[in-house]
Amino acid sequence: MEKHIGNCSCGDIEFYFNNDPINSIFCYCTECQSLTGSDKWFGLWVPRDNFKFTKGTPLSYMRVGDSGKKVNYHFCGTCSTVLCAEVTAGNFYSVSATSLKDNKFTPKMSIYASSAPSWAIFPSDVPKFDALPPGMGG
Ligand SMILES: [Zn+2]
Ligand SMILES: [Zn+2]
Repeated sequence: MEKHIGNCSCGDIEFYFNNDPINSIFCYCTECQSLTGSDKWFGLWVPRDNFKFTKGTPLSYMRVGDSGKKVNYHFCGTCSTVLCAEVTAGNFYSVSATSLKDNKFTPKMSIYASSAPSWAIFPSDVPKFDALPPGMGG
């Protein structure tokens, strides 16, 4: 079983998840833009049971997602790095790929492309969806 380790910028918060993510996405929704100060969030979707915080206690911020269910963001109260978003509708964490110590994952799809700013950059070799791919809920 492979263990992937990550932390926030200042090191107060550490986490790990087991096994490879079930999906890896560039998300261009407006929430991810304000969260990252960028055109997108690079999220690794990890089933809730595979993810654990191992050091520190992150702060949380909740919003209601498109599904009507909660999305809980967990971030460091010291350096404000957002480590993951708990997507309760799908029972997974969208873990920030950039907070991994050694990220070997690459995006498999671009989602919420219709919300992207005009200057957004899309990888040319992965499928692009206006919102979510068919059958993936919302
Ligand atoms: Zn921190
Ligand atoms: Zn998003």
